[in-house]
Amino acid sequence: MEKKFRRIVPDNVRVEDLKPVNIACGSTKCNEGLHCFSLKKSALRKHNSERVCHECGADLIEWDRVHKNNIKDSRFIFKSMKNELIRHVFWHTEIEEAAITHAQNRGKVELRSKASKLIKSRIGKHTFMDGRQTPLAGKEIINYAQHATATCCRKCLEAWHNIPQNRILSSEQIEFCTNLVMLYITERVPDLKDEGVEVVK
Ligand SMILES: [Zn+2]
Ligand SMILES: [Zn+2]
Repeated sequence: MEKKFRRIVPDNVRVEDLKPVNIACGSTKCNEGLHCFSLKKSALRKHNSERVCHECGADLIEWDRVHKNNIKDSRFIFKSMKNELIRHVFWHTEIEEAAITHAQNRGKVELRSKASKLIKSRIGKHTFMDGRQTPLAGKEIINYAQHATATCCRKCLEAWHNIPQNRILSSEQIEFCTNLVMLYITERVPDLKDEGVEVVK
């Protein structure tokens, strides 16, 4: 399936069949409980709040708690995020084998340092190409992780982590984003070691 559903995903398309390329930030499948909480003026107009699903108005997220950006509460943060179609897809999609192997070859220590650098260069400050700076897939597992954890662009960062788009990220904020990314990677890559191991596939 090549199609990209920018808003509502039709009923005859199954969630399990959706790949990252099929969806965008605004995609929803509200009748299956998968929404979109990015901040949109349309939500404000239609539902009197930007903190609800822009399509159906579902008000599901405990924003005060999510916005504490407390890494110790990451389970709750991730559980909340999975109410969004885009995050759900990135948490469940099959990751390209090349990306898994490449992650195992590098190991956690190297991945963490790479993740921190990518976060700084992609979302450290606002860019005019915001929303397009993080590829949807590929050999770099950090791409998947950034979309899954809403650290892919400044719009997602603002919605989920309450950091205004015009602010330059502090080192604490970069560290927080890096920690989220690493939690995703360690959950999705089996047996990831601290140091890289030679995995030949
Ligand atoms: Zn919805
Ligand atoms: Zn984003």
